[in-house]
Amino acid sequence: MQFSTAPPDAILRGHRARYVGFMSDRHTPPTVPDTSDQEVTAVVARLRRTFDSGATLPVPARARHLAALRRLLTEGADELAAALADDLGRHTTESWLVEIGFTIGELDHVAKNLRRWTAPRGRRVPAALLPARASLVREPLGVVGVIAPWNYPVQLLLAPLVGALAAGNTVVLKPSEVAPATSGALARLAGRYLDPDVVGVVTGGVGPTTALLDQRLDHIFYTGGSTVARVVAEAAARTLTPVTLELGGRCPVWVDPRQDLEAVARRIAWAKFLNAGQTCVAPNHVFTTPDAAPRLATHLADAVRAMYGADPAASEDYGRIVNTSHHDRLTGVLDATVDAGARVEFGGGREREDRYLEPTILAGVRPDHPVMAEEIFGPILPIVEVSGLGEAIDLIRDGEHPLAAYAFTDDAADRARIVREVRAGGMSFGAPMLQVSVPDLPFGGVGGSGYGAYHGEESVRVFSHEKPVFSKPLKPDTLRMALPPYGRRARLMLRAMFRV
Ligand code: NAD
Repeated sequence: MQFSTAPPDAILRGHRARYVGFMSDRHTPPTVPDTSDQEVTAVVARLRRTFDSGATLPVPARARHLAALRRLLTEGADELAAALADDLGRHTTESWLVEIGFTIGELDHVAKNLRRWTAPRGRRVPAALLPARASLVREPLGVVGVIAPWNYPVQLLLAPLVGALAAGNTVVLKPSEVAPATSGALARLAGRYLDPDVVGVVTGGVGPTTALLDQRLDHIFYTGGSTVARVVAEAAARTLTPVTLELGGRCPVWVDPRQDLEAVARRIAWAKFLNAGQTCVAPNHVFTTPDAAPRLATHLADAVRAMYGADPAASEDYGRIVNTSHHDRLTGVLDATVDAGARVEFGGGREREDRYLEPTILAGVRPDHPVMAEEIFGPILPIVEVSGLGEAIDLIRDGEHPLAAYAFTDDAADRARIVREVRAGGMSFGAPMLQVSVPDLPFGGVGGSGYGAYHGEESVRVFSHEKPVFSKPLKPDTLRMALPPYGRRARLMLRAMFRV
């Protein structure tokens, strides 16, 4: 099996090398070993010793660790792409786009700004306290844990690592056992490229993660579903460990019927069917009016055919569902929705052993249909007909706040209304998912989609404590007049200060 060593530019220009036949090669799914409880404790103790020694504090040391991570990503790219093809049937180009290249971009952005983002910042001191100086000093939190899911197993593990290293922490990584090939590759590459006294890796599922949560970590950065998030937050509460929770999607799309539906369909179809729909910020469902819905469905089907050909099963560009239990979940919800009265406008084809589920467009979907109950997290796109934007907003507001909300409309009043009335982790008009690719925009959820954010400067901030530091000279002794015994002068000064 050959993988490209070409730089991303060349790959994006049309390189097509890919691990073909990933399923037929996978007679026995790979597994990752469970790190033992004792080993988890030893890893955290080792990282704690390093942190306490102050070795990760100097900015040049942080830059060195980031450079090592960059080498892991560039020199280990082929190994990672092979593992991603094994776990998710991903095309190499797609893995570069959404995982390897994405993380390198994030790393370069943080590395370029490292000195500025880690320097103390001056804050204004009120006149009554002068002469004095105030500043905010960003200091690392200590030993932090990054727990990642399986759907973007490289990006969602290593992009938080960028921020954690830049902020001067030591880090325990816990890749997802549900993407076992990638988990194994990440552990091997971390051992090869990263300083084990600064970055440790714990592999496996519930057992090792529970052992990790029992350590007194200084921050836990968790990405995944909301059920496990509760387990993580409860465990963290026992040790007063702060957590960041990057949770699930159910991202709605509003399509104004006056839009160019062919162009709209291309963008929705790309965002939805990338990684076979297993993306937290993928469009979950589409709201549009009854007159636009059939035209949109036709254009969506055309867009799918243009990307993946007449038979997406044979396309090397189309991915696979991560495992058969998720495949069963998706086909179950699809069939139940059709039984409840929705129509398959396009797709519906499946092959369980190959973990293949065809890009599928459902029409005539009602808000109470099974497919609308939970985040879909797969290649099924329901179109829900509504009377207009108002009803779409009401339906969005009925549920948890989504991780992202999308809209296609040129109507300025409608856009302003959506920004005002829809609470969501983030928003994009005209291009679903691209908000995540802007390094200067924080990425995170709100309410049911999580709390805390990262990317760019926020990645450094989320792994830092911003320590206020105040300093005032002894002379002149301006505090004296505020000390007891309180006389008339102090009273008059206070009144003047508060303008009463
Ligand atoms: P998952 O099953 O891989 O679990 C995530 C992590 O939790 C893994 O590392 C796993 O080992 C650990 N884990 C699982 N059960 C555990 C338990 N009982 N105790 C402790 N740890 C446990 O991933 P998932 O939850 O299926 O991920 C998919 C979800 O993640 C979707 O809801 C998706 O929307 C969300 N997601 C969010 C983002 C984001 O950035 N906000 C990104 C990707 C995915």
